[in-house]
Amino acid sequence: MSDKHHPKKRFGQNFLIDEAIIKRIINSIQPTHEDALIEIGPGFGALTNKLLLAQPALAIIEIDNDLVAFWHEKMKIHRQLQIHHQDVLTVDFKALALTAAHSLRIVGNLPYNISSPLLFHLFSFDDVIHDMCFMLQKEVVDRLCATPNSKTYGRLSIMAQYYCDIYKLFEVPNTAFKPAPKVTSAICRLIPKKASARYPIDPVKLAECVRLAFTMRRKTLPNALKGLITLEQITSLGLDPKLRPENLSLLDFCHLAELT
Ligand code: SAM
Repeated sequence: MSDKHHPKKRFGQNFLIDEAIIKRIINSIQPTHEDALIEIGPGFGALTNKLLLAQPALAIIEIDNDLVAFWHEKMKIHRQLQIHHQDVLTVDFKALALTAAHSLRIVGNLPYNISSPLLFHLFSFDDVIHDMCFMLQKEVVDRLCATPNSKTYGRLSIMAQYYCDIYKLFEVPNTAFKPAPKVTSAICRLIPKKASARYPIDPVKLAECVRLAFTMRRKTLPNALKGLITLEQITSLGLDPKLRPENLSLLDFCHLAELT
């Protein structure tokens, strides 16, 4: 990274400096010349420079004016690079996919301060995404992969697992970054499920049911879902009314949401 640049906390700027970790991430991505590859938040290029070796027509999405200027300068060498100077939360990935020959491969060491809204934003484009490989806060990756009856299991786990198959690849210590964040990180891969592999439920209904349930995660189901689903409906599904939201599987939530 540049000595002149003061990392901006508001943009979650923790730059990767550990070459061994960078190599391991690139190995996990396995970028190829065929890929419609997009990197979110290139920063000073810890990953970008290696991605460009495989795919010179890489697209990058960066919000920081200074970093965008840095990449415009780099375009003198990397002529095929596509720079999107934009808040990733406003990016229309469907529009990006229209110009690509294949479904999108999206990668990045993500800004942790927007990770949940960003994941939900990306899930809404699941049909144009081939896979995603992200660095996130370890706690977020653990929540993404969590199974019922655990403390980390909740709204993010259920909705992410509705949309994607998720794999935690490896953890990354905070010493791999400059400045070092306070938390441990982890790399994960998310592969959107085919529509045929999903329970046929309106995701908006599912999201609403899950949101309401986990607003009061310590309450029993009839109390947590009051106003949306009755006690009779819960028992009609064979679910014990003493259960709490954290005890239910994704499929249980799909069955409940179907009744709304
Ligand atoms: N990829 C670089 C690396 O690994 O060293 C930088 C990673 S840093 C954790 C996050 C990057 O995302 C920064 O470049 C930051 O400016 C950018 N960023 C933060 N918020 C963003 C947003 N809303 N839209 C696009 N880029 C954003």
